[in-house]
Amino acid sequence: MQTNFSLAQLADPHVAESEKILRKCVHCGFCTATCPTYVTLGNELDSPRGRIYLIKDMLENSRPADKEIVTHIDRCLSCLACMTTCPSGVNYMHLVDHARAHIEQTYKRPLFDRLIRATLAFVLPHPSRFRAALKLAGFGRPFIGLFDKLPGLKPVAAMLKLVPSAIPPASPMRKPGTHAGQGTKRGRVAILTGCAQSVLDPAINDTTISLLTRLGVEVVVPEGEGCCGALVHHMGREDQALASARRNIDAWTRAIDQGGLDAIIITASGCGTTIKDYGFMLRLDPAYAQKAAWVSSLAKDITEYLAALDLPEPVRKPGTVVAYHSACSMQHGQKITRQPKELLAKAGFVVREPREGHLCCGSAGTYNILQPEISAKLRDRKVKNIEATGAEIVATGNIGCITQIASAAKLPVVHTIKLLDWAYGGPKPEGVSERKLAAAE
Ligand code: SF4
Ligand code: SF4
Repeated sequence: MQTNFSLAQLADPHVAESEKILRKCVHCGFCTATCPTYVTLGNELDSPRGRIYLIKDMLENSRPADKEIVTHIDRCLSCLACMTTCPSGVNYMHLVDHARAHIEQTYKRPLFDRLIRATLAFVLPHPSRFRAALKLAGFGRPFIGLFDKLPGLKPVAAMLKLVPSAIPPASPMRKPGTHAGQGTKRGRVAILTGCAQSVLDPAINDTTISLLTRLGVEVVVPEGEGCCGALVHHMGREDQALASARRNIDAWTRAIDQGGLDAIIITASGCGTTIKDYGFMLRLDPAYAQKAAWVSSLAKDITEYLAALDLPEPVRKPGTVVAYHSACSMQHGQKITRQPKELLAKAGFVVREPREGHLCCGSAGTYNILQPEISAKLRDRKVKNIEATGAEIVATGNIGCITQIASAAKLPVVHTIKLLDWAYGGPKPEGVSERKLAAAE
């Protein structure tokens, strides 16, 4: 694609990077067919190609964002299906991240939109605030129907619908410290404790630590790590996202200095995509660029790490039929497609893949709160495809997808690691009924 940026505009490294991306796009439109918002809404401006044109026009003219571009960029899930499809290697992720930061700096959203975004950015990245908010949200449940009828309050209704009926207690295993590996030492890793997942389902990381240590891997929970920054990054709040990245890099660098790390284990693929991008996000910061690139190279999804570990035979082979839902951040963001399915199959599960597996479930960070209508359509489409597999359980590697799919599916939805842990001698996953597992044994 031809571009028309002035030399003065290209002196801004963010614009220069976006210009390089724009020039790669050949307008072919292959990406439109796999874009969930185009498939759902049928509007070219809600397709990757349409958004690329809008971003190009905004950046080339050094224009502040306007309502039209904000509408169409806000509707983008950042699912990155377009990047998997694009034959020209257009890095839509970096382009839309730049557009979101530009929107944040140049566009004044309506008051309620600003309030809800500020609240999400203040609460979600902090487990103690998020836990308190979930408890308070219980009082709002009776008003879901009312909020749903008022267009401005639909995000509040969407948020309340996602609140779980019970909030598990905080896990002592998330406290900083070291969990020693059993038997012959096979590695030393840090684990990301993160934010929302540690409140909604602390058992995911507990199970990961338990399985890794049983396999002989020492697991460090470093002092000072926290939210990866993905949630605010996708809202265009770059300073907040970069502050999270720097804090985590400092924490992991200390852990590396204190005994080395083979990997930084991530159990939420949404976080994994962002941490693997820290090197790019901090490339212009001389104090962090090198460390960020190193941290990104160490970041591994738990299934990526386990697949390279040469696992023993499982303790039990359940035979349970599992529908594997590959989160967008797993398949499109990190290009991890094979490992989770192969691990589940090796552990004795019968793995089925739902139709339209490339399409997002509509979770996408805070998307299911900020764009509840499109999100619900995508969720229902996803659940229909999952249930058509005839599976007994849904497995996936991202807490956002677990919450989203579980809000509409009749089947239990569990993190992949819980099924693997169970096959390798751990307890039965919570939420999976006795009857189904007993029938399969
Ligand atoms: S990231 Fe997803 S929703 Fe956004 S343009 Fe690409 S395919 Fe469409
Ligand atoms: S598939 Fe790639 S090159 Fe083709 S229009 Fe989409 S982004 Fe541009």
